[in-house]
Amino acid sequence: MVENQEKNTQTKIAIVTGSSRGIGAEIVKTLSQNGYIVVLNYNNSKEQAEEISKNYSNVYPFKADVSKYEEVKALVDFTIEKFGQIDLLINNAGIDLVKPINDTSLEEFDKILKTNLYSAFYSSKEVSKFMINKKSGHIINISSIWGLIGASCEMAYSISKAGLDAMTKSLAKEFGLSNIRVNGIAPGIIETDMNNFLTDKEKDELYEEIPLKRMGTPHEVASCVLFLENNPYITGQILQVNGGWNM
Ligand code: NAP
Repeated sequence: MVENQEKNTQTKIAIVTGSSRGIGAEIVKTLSQNGYIVVLNYNNSKEQAEEISKNYSNVYPFKADVSKYEEVKALVDFTIEKFGQIDLLINNAGIDLVKPINDTSLEEFDKILKTNLYSAFYSSKEVSKFMINKKSGHIINISSIWGLIGASCEMAYSISKAGLDAMTKSLAKEFGLSNIRVNGIAPGIIETDMNNFLTDKEKDELYEEIPLKRMGTPHEVASCVLFLENNPYITGQILQVNGGWNM
């Protein structure tokens, strides 16, 4: 079955970074259900990654710590060797840090930037070579509302996402001539492990500020990936999925 799919020019090939859990896992499932071959990148959550690949067709787990250039290169090389092309790159891997600036160590700042921002530089640099050759492709960066408006006590995270938004717009301009689109999705607050630290009281306080009075679901983010994929005239945009939180 795999052999028949190798070097397949009809089926779209996608890489989703950090997709063993949460939003990334939902994007993998959505793409698989829509006929894509998906390389599911995980770092620590091997079991979850293997569970998804067992239950969804054409999903191939690959371990890589995307904060490290050599591991991102190995992820891209694996995909090219196996499938011969990459049509869609989703830079989704991300970690949060909730701390005032004076408690943030140099190492913590570095780790957030390496995981959330440098990782997207590494993958876009490696993947775009193949997309430019093919004169087609799409890169989607999973950003955050905090990249647009800044979050108190989440400076490093907010910087990483603002940097991603700038990368989205810069690369959309650089790659347009090569028929490669680059877009961003900026979720508000979504029901995943990332928000497990919030108490019920803190959640209720947040809902007060959100016009739709609830968190979003990973599916509501994943469906935006298909929307952007299916409209070939959208590039350089940051699509906000936040229940009206930022208007
Ligand atoms: P999550 O549930 O905490 O999952 C994070 C995912 O990132 C996991 O699959 C994890 O993989 C992966 N990951 C973390 N560090 C990695 C590394 N160094 N290399 C490879 N993979 C790594 O988070 P989420 O809520 O789904 O967030 C996904 C994206 O959406 C992030 O970029 C986040 O900033 C963004 N976002 C989330 C929210 C929200 O409210 N949840 C809001 C706005 C934006 P392993 O477990 O395998 O290590």
